[in-house]
Amino acid sequence: MKFYNLKDNTQVVDYATAVRQGLGRNQGLFFPKKIDPIEDVDSLLDAPSEARYLQILKPFVGENLSDEQLKDVIKNTFKFPAKLVAVEDNIYCLELFHGPTLAFKDFGANFMANCLKQFSNGEKITILTATSGDTGAAVAHAFYGIKNIQVVILYPKGKISALQEKMFTTLGGNIKTLAIEGTFDDCQALVKQSFDDRSLVKEIGLNSANSINISRLIAQVCYYFDAVAQVPQEQRKKLVISVPCGNFGNLTAAIIAQLLGLPIERFVATTNVNDTVPRFLQTGQWQPNKTIATLSNAMDVSAPNNWPRIEYMMQSEAV
Ligand SMILES: *Cc1c(COP(=O)(O)O)cnc(C)c1O
Repeated sequence: MKFYNLKDNTQVVDYATAVRQGLGRNQGLFFPKKIDPIEDVDSLLDAPSEARYLQILKPFVGENLSDEQLKDVIKNTFKFPAKLVAVEDNIYCLELFHGPTLAFKDFGANFMANCLKQFSNGEKITILTATSGDTGAAVAHAFYGIKNIQVVILYPKGKISALQEKMFTTLGGNIKTLAIEGTFDDCQALVKQSFDDRSLVKEIGLNSANSINISRLIAQVCYYFDAVAQVPQEQRKKLVISVPCGNFGNLTAAIIAQLLGLPIERFVATTNVNDTVPRFLQTGQWQPNKTIATLSNAMDVSAPNNWPRIEYMMQSEAV
């Protein structure tokens, strides 16, 4: 499968390049042109999880990873479960906090790290990442101690929880952290600006582990299949999935899962008071406000990066 730059569709790359570059020309996001449905989703849901991940991921990464390599990546990534727990009749909660840093980002961050390890040819890589709280910890733990990879994490000073801060500022080694006087969106803007400096990108092998990196989202697609596989068969029709959103990466992965054929009737996407997307859907105007710090700080994003991917899926014949 090829990945297109959503801002310049003359830039077409393979999976390895999309993962290593993170962001395309003009800060464009990489995305598949078309997502083909999986033929027999019912048997896929009944398959053992590693076989299921292999079948879901192979079309995306198969050009660059052999089955053996992909199996290896899968084994080293999905080491913790995505557990579906009944809340009440017909309502379930997908527990995505069983990874090392208690965030669903552990799935994507570990998948990205394991893929990069496979693609590494010894050249230097610098992972620059902005965090609104949870991404930093997940990325730091996933990349901690990997040879040839330096990690730099930018976070809004005083706007993340003490536990989150401890989880990534205390590792040392190849993990550097910078507290920024500003919001998450300011941190994210600094990351994007750095990518505009072509000589810097080249010199330090700049990459990002934010959900602008397509590898993170692809891994997250898998746990939506896990979720439905755990729903009793007679309840699998007309599923409604509710997704708390910040950068809209998790929702992007959910919609990819739907395009792959997962029987999802509709999504409920929620934001906190940082509500650029709901206002956009109501008024048609994209007007990010100043970011407001809240208790749900992993959702404190007012310029969500992944929205162009969702718009693409809504507009294209992919849907
Ligand atoms: C990261 C995070 C979000 C936002 O996810 P996106 O993929 O950025 O939309 C929501 N809730 C929690 C708990 C998170 O860690």
